[in-house]
Amino acid sequence: MSEQAEQAEQAIETPVLDRYECRSCGYVYEPEKGDDKNDITAGTLFAELPVSWRCPVCTANKVAFANIGPAGTASGFKENLGYGLGVNTLTPTQKNILIFGALALGFLFFISLYGLQ
Ligand SMILES: [Zn+2]
Repeated sequence: MSEQAEQAEQAIETPVLDRYECRSCGYVYEPEKGDDKNDITAGTLFAELPVSWRCPVCTANKVAFANIGPAGTASGFKENLGYGLGVNTLTPTQKNILIFGALALGFLFFISLYGLQ
């Protein structure tokens, strides 16, 4: 906690553009880029965003965002974001085939265990 306080004091002299991540959907607000969808100009700090500002992806309010530090710090959040997207682009039919296919495979595997004994 004391480290955070020190960082906050330093931030007064050299403003650090902290990024904030939406804990609902993983969207990251980057002050350097702003938010085109909500007419937020580049360079606007997260703290300066209007209270009415919502996540452009899932419309969560500001309270749902967590400070993940300035750009360049390794957070890992952004990298992880890509992994879930592949499944999200599948149609419901494809998802069903995946789910039931996996269930059928699991069932076959389960049955094969009896065959071994
Ligand atoms: Zn969101």
